Amino acid sequence: MEHLPLPDRVEPFIIVPYEAPKKDWYDGQGFLDYPQRCGWTEEQLRGGDDTTKEDYLDANGFKKRGSDDEVEQFFQTWLFFGLLIEFLKIGGVHVQTEDFLVDANTEGDNPDMPKMVNTSKLPQLLLEWRDEITNRGANTERTWKILTPMFDRSKSILDRYCMPGHEKEWPLKQEKPRPWPVRDEISTTMIALTFSLRRAAIESGYIDNVDPLTPTLHGRSELLWKRLQQKWCIADVTTALKELAIDGHYYLAASPGLSNKELDHHSKCTEEHCLYEYDLKMYVTRHAGSPWHHSGCKSTIQYGGQLGPERGQTDWVDAIGKIIDKDAIPIALWVKGSRELWSVEYHLTGNRKPNYVAISHVWADGHGNPNANSIPECQLDRITHYVENVHWEGRKPIPGNPNLSDGIGFWLDTICVPVDKGDPIKKVQKKKAIANMRHVYSRAKAVLVLDNWLEQISSTHPILDIVSRLYQSNWIKRLWTHQEGFLPGLDAPLEEGLLRTTRVYIQFSDKSVELDELREQFETYQQQQINVGIHLQFPVAANARLLVMYSRLKFIMSGVKDMKDKWKLYAPVADAMSERKTSRLVDEIICLATIIGIDVKPFLELPDKDKSDEELAQDRMALFLDTVHTFAMQLVFNNYQRLERIGYRWAPRSLLNFRLPQLYPGRDQRTTNFQVVNGKKGLLVQYPGFLMQFDSGRPTFGTSERGCVIKYNQKSDKSQGPRVDGNYFIIELPPNNVRWTESSSQVYAVVLYEVPTKRGQSCAAIVGLSTSSPANGIYTFEHCSIATARVVSTAPTWVDVVEVPLLASNTKWLVY
Ligand SMILES: [Zn+2]
Ligand SMILES: [Zn+2]
Repeated sequence: MEHLPLPDRVEPFIIVPYEAPKKDWYDGQGFLDYPQRCGWTEEQLRGGDDTTKEDYLDANGFKKRGSDDEVEQFFQTWLFFGLLIEFLKIGGVHVQTEDFLVDANTEGDNPDMPKMVNTSKLPQLLLEWRDEITNRGANTERTWKILTPMFDRSKSILDRYCMPGHEKEWPLKQEKPRPWPVRDEISTTMIALTFSLRRAAIESGYIDNVDPLTPTLHGRSELLWKRLQQKWCIADVTTALKELAIDGHYYLAASPGLSNKELDHHSKCTEEHCLYEYDLKMYVTRHAGSPWHHSGCKSTIQYGGQLGPERGQTDWVDAIGKIIDKDAIPIALWVKGSRELWSVEYHLTGNRKPNYVAISHVWADGHGNPNANSIPECQLDRITHYVENVHWEGRKPIPGNPNLSDGIGFWLDTICVPVDKGDPIKKVQKKKAIANMRHVYSRAKAVLVLDNWLEQISSTHPILDIVSRLYQSNWIKRLWTHQEGFLPGLDAPLEEGLLRTTRVYIQFSDKSVELDELREQFETYQQQQINVGIHLQFPVAANARLLVMYSRLKFIMSGVKDMKDKWKLYAPVADAMSERKTSRLVDEIICLATIIGIDVKPFLELPDKDKSDEELAQDRMALFLDTVHTFAMQLVFNNYQRLERIGYRWAPRSLLNFRLPQLYPGRDQRTTNFQVVNGKKGLLVQYPGFLMQFDSGRPTFGTSERGCVIKYNQKSDKSQGPRVDGNYFIIELPPNNVRWTESSSQVYAVVLYEVPTKRGQSCAAIVGLSTSSPANGIYTFEHCSIATARVVSTAPTWVDVVEVPLLASNTKWLVY
């Protein structure tokens, strides 16, 4: 692992021996058929055939191949040394096993100590490889055709055996995990090597069309996963595991993590959801530390007056209320010398449009105040100092006299969005302020990001430290960040045919840096590293996380203006929202509607009396679905928690904070409308499926170990559907709390995304209650659970077997 970067002063911490006797070292005779030369069969490489037997001790598994040590040495020889030697050979670089071995660093000489694997030489060799292959004018396509099967081979083994966490239990995956007698340290180096060689090939131009943002290898290091779990929220680790490749895992595992106090707040989190706990009653509006806070610092705001012709404001709260009543945005201007806060108004229509900076902060950092529109004076000093130091072209110098200012104020939700406290007038003003939030960020001259975690380091820190800080920051995981970062410039007039460039600044301990500048730094760094033979995914992935807010979504948005096309935004927004969260669920739809440009007023006007946050959030989601109206047909197979109301049970309840989302199972392009059919409201879809009834006394899904088996009768399929290589479909349900109707007359249905045809293959499915025959050609289907349908040749004994015909792929279902 010596070829991958680590934070300053951290030594490589994955120590790997190579214990194979010299006679068993890689023979240099070719990578792909090495197992064959060693007498391994395909089935043995897979640890036995798990499509027919569930037995881990399958006689065709590893046992036949020798001891655990011997099996481990075989895989290390093949997938580490074999891959490395053969890859370099293609570029005319000839190396031997010894080139990557060093003596164990122990006291004195001990010939019995195994050699240690070391990849320090790899970057230099990769440079030679690139130069050689370029100078030789190697045929790109031919080279890639030689390399691809090697990487695919390595991937197939690593993906199969190296899956930490949820994937082992994941009910909807295709293959059962198998035990592998290879130590975590050793498999980690195999993953790192496969990753680095593949990236070297990609970045030297030997590549077909791949998505550079998604790690190709699914295999993950269990060791690094465990290290990350010790210092981060488990849900955030799931996201990092999914989005980053091993270079990112390795660097983050060696970087600072959360404090113990912070980790305590995450103690209930799961791999799927962050359940950060914060007692609102315990929320403390914090004073700023040194050098801002002084004894005698006031926690309340002394109002200076209004910068404008209006008079008669009694205090700050009165002033912002009056400004909001006019449909304008209140701006705060703090005069350091006189210790007074002045109000300024920004008119959405008309000519009063003063420049201001919108502050985007992390609520948990203590800049909020649930009780009043005020923050301590030291915070006003601090924020004003930061605002004064945001530089853009044409900004005038800040006057030295503390009683003067350049007139650039700021907007901060804590003091600019009224706190209602049950006051009906304030409540109306608050709704208005929220409805105008979109404009607050889009009209700001700059958005300044304040996050304590980011402010702990200076902008001159090593670039990977900045990358990891940003990637793990709370700011990037906030729901509102999404809106704040996304909206600047979006509804502003086009400049030379392009959207106005977003000016978002991140505050570090020494100064703020514009996001675009950071992105350029990441890219420059990436290129510099490539030039010394180090190939990374981490900076690209961190960049992507920023880009998704600032470019990708904006690009998609710019092509969607019509209300009838809004459905196209649902999936990209869902994707970007899955790793974000908010302390109030009801905010979700407001934010979602704002981003995709749907009027938020109807959502704010839904009755909220005596409703919990959760209930109101569901009401708003339901209205949102009504408003969007059109959806991708395959949405019914999504694996989210779904809405709990009749007609809407096919729809995700929330798009937020779900780290293992699968909105769509495939590439089905068809759309459908949310409509009323045969007197019922639902989503009308067309898919193949089965109808079944369980004889009285026999168990239904609910009691039968989460599934059933359908005997597939080729002859009974009158629709002449696809030929299926296998006799049974196992219908497996994930753990859920569906209560199935215990009635022998009840008809159940399984709706399949497609018909899996090969033995061992599976597809997404949904299970629910159905009408026994179609009305006007349509079955009515009450969605109860998602499921997987897998083709097998023998039926497991743990479930019921029913024999029913397969309904044609154009069968119509109203999913409600
Ligand atoms: Zn958490
Ligand atoms: Zn203070």
